[in-house]
Amino acid sequence: MTTDLTAYTGAAILDGETIHKGHALLCEGGRVKAVAPPGELPEGCTLKALQGGLICPGFVDLQVNGGGGVMLNDAPSPETIATICKAHLPFGTTSLLPTLITDTPARMAEARRAAKAALAQGVAGVIGLHFEGPHIAPARKGAHDPALIRPMEAEDLAFLEAAAAELPTLMITLAPESARPEEIRALAAAGAIVSLGHSDADYPAAMEAVRAGATCATHLFNAMSQLAARAPGLVGAALESGALHAGLIADGIHVDPATIRIALRAKAGPGRIFLVTDAMAVIGSDLAEFTLNGRRILRRDGRLTLADGTLAGADLDMISAVRFMVESIGIGREEALRMASLYPAELIGRSGEIGRLAPGTRADFLHLDDDLDILGVWQGGIRRLP
Ligand code: ZN
Repeated sequence: MTTDLTAYTGAAILDGETIHKGHALLCEGGRVKAVAPPGELPEGCTLKALQGGLICPGFVDLQVNGGGGVMLNDAPSPETIATICKAHLPFGTTSLLPTLITDTPARMAEARRAAKAALAQGVAGVIGLHFEGPHIAPARKGAHDPALIRPMEAEDLAFLEAAAAELPTLMITLAPESARPEEIRALAAAGAIVSLGHSDADYPAAMEAVRAGATCATHLFNAMSQLAARAPGLVGAALESGALHAGLIADGIHVDPATIRIALRAKAGPGRIFLVTDAMAVIGSDLAEFTLNGRRILRRDGRLTLADGTLAGADLDMISAVRFMVESIGIGREEALRMASLYPAELIGRSGEIGRLAPGTRADFLHLDDDLDILGVWQGGIRRLP
């Protein structure tokens, strides 16, 4: 009987939750079979000895607008999604949600078809779709085109419910100002992950959305009502409600390091702060500028901005975000890695499949050295890089 049973040895293993030393990662058929002590390796398995370092789960990025020179908004197609997934792979991301920011209903329908087709074709790395907008608040539009922002109508709800039914994960960033609690309730019931963002909602409105089924806040601190003495805002709700996870852009530009440290101390569980890149077309390319909804976005010194200086997504990849959390925020390496893998997988209810290395999960993993440089990337048990 032939088998592709393979044991990776010689590196410590972070299974998502804990570190195992002197163990082997056993993979078969593209899945993890076990994290096994050396004495318990099955006979006949292929041994692959790594020279030290750490094996950890591949990263899960729930907010990726582009990469490899392309933006999902520009041309939503399976090819665009494949290009984006490929561009993020060298930075450790093995699962991602291609993210369409506020756009027309026609473009949203194209993105839905593109994600469905990419999944059907087995494009490696795509796990669903994220619609960031258009049902957000003009007061907190960020780089979203105000002409395309609109409140949710019955036909929008029907479209989103249908998209949630046909995609394994559909995430929707919306503002309580533009979507009613009963709409949030219907989306959550349809299986969508509702994330609050680009919103000026006060704390009571945010908490009403949480009770209706919202489970996340989009890019914590950015484009949302802030925490103040008598007005906790959406930031306050995100930190205080254990029902909410919160994405964070950890690039040293979107959120001050001191603010990140305070947020980590304040965050009520079980909801967690996790890392997103909010990456644009520039990742994995040397582009100096690109367009978004027909507007020029400039890349300079690690920033992406509209001509007026408004931040427009991030010039950030996931391993850089992990390194930033360790080097500039001072959290442990393992916790930073969990923020890029386990916690986002838990938010979308898929930690039995991705974001962890345990029996039955996909064999998506990284080999890192002590400086958090990526030495190897495996997807579905196959070495993809280098
Ligand atoms: Zn945004």
